[in-house]
Amino acid sequence: MSNVLVTGGAGYIGSHACKALKAAGYTPVTYDNLVTGWKDAVKFGPFEQGDLSDRARLDEVFATYQPVAVMHFAALSQVGEAMSEPGRYWRNNVEGSLTLIEAATAAGCLNFVFSSTCATYGEHDNVVLDESTPQEPLNAYGASKRAVENILRDFEAAKGLRHVIFRYFNVAGADPEGEVGEHHRPETHLIPVMLEAIDGTRPALSIHGTDYDTPDGTCIRDYVHVCDLVDAHVLGLKWLTDGKGSRVFNLGTGKGFSVREVIDASRSVTNREVPHSEGPRRAGDATKLVSGSTRAAAELGWEPSRSTMPQMIADAWRWHQNGHYEG
Ligand code: UDP
Repeated sequence: MSNVLVTGGAGYIGSHACKALKAAGYTPVTYDNLVTGWKDAVKFGPFEQGDLSDRARLDEVFATYQPVAVMHFAALSQVGEAMSEPGRYWRNNVEGSLTLIEAATAAGCLNFVFSSTCATYGEHDNVVLDESTPQEPLNAYGASKRAVENILRDFEAAKGLRHVIFRYFNVAGADPEGEVGEHHRPETHLIPVMLEAIDGTRPALSIHGTDYDTPDGTCIRDYVHVCDLVDAHVLGLKWLTDGKGSRVFNLGTGKGFSVREVIDASRSVTNREVPHSEGPRRAGDATKLVSGSTRAAAELGWEPSRSTMPQMIADAWRWHQNGHYEG
């Protein structure tokens, strides 16, 4: 069986990726420091606790498992926090990734799948966001991910590190079988925050800005189901092991939803009111981030099947009501 090293495998997207990898016949080896991840989420392969900054620990794990590839999810990923604590983002996301990339190349593991983000694009009025759109991030989160993309290109030129970069739009939903789901502490992402407001775990959802230049004044995002997203990673891994070259793919559906539209959809799916208030803009937010690319479908054969808004909210709601991690 082929081992795949999954950094951040105890986190939201990483844990779903481990499940998909196992289903595809790989052994996912989770490497996670459990700062934001959960040991309970590691269910589909071995667990190795460690930090991205710990080169000796990484060397040991590469030597033990001899992975065919790395899937690198481990990162800090909150726009608000990135604005107030940029140093943490540069240190953890950039320096940590650099240490991992050096360890992988030194170990001869030359297939690398990287979680990047549409936040690397920044604000572009009336421009279709595809993989060739200039990257002008508005926040340290997007900037840190763009920096790692550049590091990967340098390591390809110097060391032959083949990589697939996925630029995620907004990831939502949960495993429909309820084995893993989204559990951040504190939670800041729109859909889980909304579900907490619906069930009373938090008083209300605050809409971060109602004066954007959009039809209803709230920001527009492109939401993709986590299960569809991780399916693309398995295809990306196959792309690399088939010997195809390094490539960047957007992962979004091409449909945009405003914050108010997500609130309306949540009300319909849950049959409950969504307590909310209108607050100020959140620093670092772009007005609209919607993918304009069909590259992942055309080249990888990616076919999202659960990424409708009602399905994503229903899956997130089921997890929210029934599933959680203790530690
Ligand atoms: N948002 C909001 N209230 C919240 C959380 C998020 O209005 O409590 C908005 C946010 O400003 C953005 C959208 O919802 O326009 C999605 O934000 P999220 O943090 O989920 O993802 P991001 O787009 O930052 O990756």
